[in-house]
Amino acid sequence: MTSLNSTLQPIYDEILTRNPGETEFHQAARELLDSLDSVVARHPEYAEAAIIRRVCEPERQIIFRVPWVDDAGQVHLNRGFRVEFNSALGPYKGGLRFHPSVYLGIVKFLGFEQIFKNALTGMPIGGGKGGSDFDPKGRSDAEIMRFCQSFMTELYRHIGEYTDVPAGDIGVGGREIGYLFGQYKRITNRYESGVLTGKGIGWGGSLARTEATGYGTAYFANEMLKARNSSFEGKTVVVSGSGNVAIYAAEKATALGATVVACSDSSGYLVDEKGIDLDLLKDVKEVRRARISAYVDERSGSARLVTGGSVWDVPCDIALPCATQNELDATHALTLVRNGCTVVAEGANMPCTPEAVKVFTDAGVAFAPGKAANAGGVATSALEMQQNASRDSWSFDYTEERLRNIMVDIHDRCLVTAEEYGAPGNYITGANIAGFTQVADAMLALGVI
Ligand code: GLU
Repeated sequence: MTSLNSTLQPIYDEILTRNPGETEFHQAARELLDSLDSVVARHPEYAEAAIIRRVCEPERQIIFRVPWVDDAGQVHLNRGFRVEFNSALGPYKGGLRFHPSVYLGIVKFLGFEQIFKNALTGMPIGGGKGGSDFDPKGRSDAEIMRFCQSFMTELYRHIGEYTDVPAGDIGVGGREIGYLFGQYKRITNRYESGVLTGKGIGWGGSLARTEATGYGTAYFANEMLKARNSSFEGKTVVVSGSGNVAIYAAEKATALGATVVACSDSSGYLVDEKGIDLDLLKDVKEVRRARISAYVDERSGSARLVTGGSVWDVPCDIALPCATQNELDATHALTLVRNGCTVVAEGANMPCTPEAVKVFTDAGVAFAPGKAANAGGVATSALEMQQNASRDSWSFDYTEERLRNIMVDIHDRCLVTAEEYGAPGNYITGANIAGFTQVADAMLALGVI
C-alpha cells in the first residue's frame, strides 16, 4: 500500500524510496504518519524543523559480521544489527532479537516503535533495537554462549550506560543477557551494570523485570476494561505465544479474575478449558525449553493440542496477541469479533496487521497498540537502570507497583491525548500523538542535530 490519504504522503514516499524492501518498517512508519495530520495542523514548527522526516531516519545503523564455532568445530556466520534510532530523550534503549527472520527492516520497525513506546513510559530513554538472524533453536548452551560472545565482541564498542542500553527480545532472555554481559565486562574491564537490562537478580537485575511486559499488558487491558465499566472477572482470555510476555500476561490476567484458555507456539496451540496451569507451562517453556505438546501430555485430560488453524479460532472475550509481528490478520480478527471478543491489547510488537486493526476498530472493539500496551517491559528496564545507577535493589512489590502506576498513566495519557486531538477512545491515535509530540518537542529544543 503506497497511498496514505494524508498531507504526509510525500514523507511516506520518501521513506519508501530511502528504505527499499523494508516492509515492516514501512508498515510501522505508515501507522504513525496516519495519526499525525491533526498534529501537523496544530504544530507548524514541526514541519519547519523537518521533525517527522528526521524522526523517520535512524541516527545510526550498525551492521556487523558474527562468526562463531558450533560444538562440532564447524564455523558459522551470522549478521548482527544495532539501529540507534533516536536519542532525544535519553540513551538508545531497546532489546536484541535473535531469530532467523531478522534483517534490517525488522530491526528498524522495532527500533522505530521503541522511540514512541519509550517516550510513553515517561522515563528518560531514547529508542533503538538490535539483533541477529541467528537461530537459537536446537543450539546447545555452549553454542549460545559462543554466539553471544562473538556478537558482543563487536557490539561492545557501540554501547554504554549513557549511550545505548540493549536488553532482551525474542530469542534473548536471562541466559543470553548473562553471556553478553560477561563478555562486555571482560573486554572493557568495567562492571558497568547499566549497560544491559534484563540481568539476573544476583548481579544487577531487577525483580519483576521478567514478568514486566506480560504483567504490564494485563494491567493495560485491565484499564481498558475499567474504561468500559468492565473487568477481567469471569472473562475468557486467549493469549498467543508462550514466551515470557505470554506467560506473565496470562498469569496477571488470571490473578485479576480471568480464565486463560489458550496459548500457542510454533508447533500449534493448546486449549485448556479449565484455565492454563501456569506452573506447568513455566516448567515446560522456561525450565525444559520444550514444546507446548509436553504441557498437553502432562495435564491429565483437560488440555488438547491443535496443530491446524489458529489460536484465534478459540472463542474469548479478551485477546492478548503476545507472539510476533503480523501474526493476527483480518480473517482472525473477523473470527474474534464474531465470537464476541471486545478488547484486544498487543503484548507483542505490531502483532495485528493493519487490516486486522481496521476490523477491530470498525466493530467497536477496544484496541491498544503494542507501543502502549507492552511498554511495561522497557519501563521496568528503565527501573533496572535506576537501581543500577543508585547501586540499590528494590523489592518485587515496590517495583511491580511502580510498573502498575506507569501502565495506568500510559493508558490515561492515551485517552486524554486521543480526546484532545478529536479521536475519543482511539488508543492508536492517543499513543502515537502522545509519544511523538514528546519526542518532537525534545528534538526542537535540542536544535538541528
Ligand atoms: N524488547 C522489549 C520491547 O519490545 C524490551 C526492551 C527493553 O527492555 O529495553 O519493548
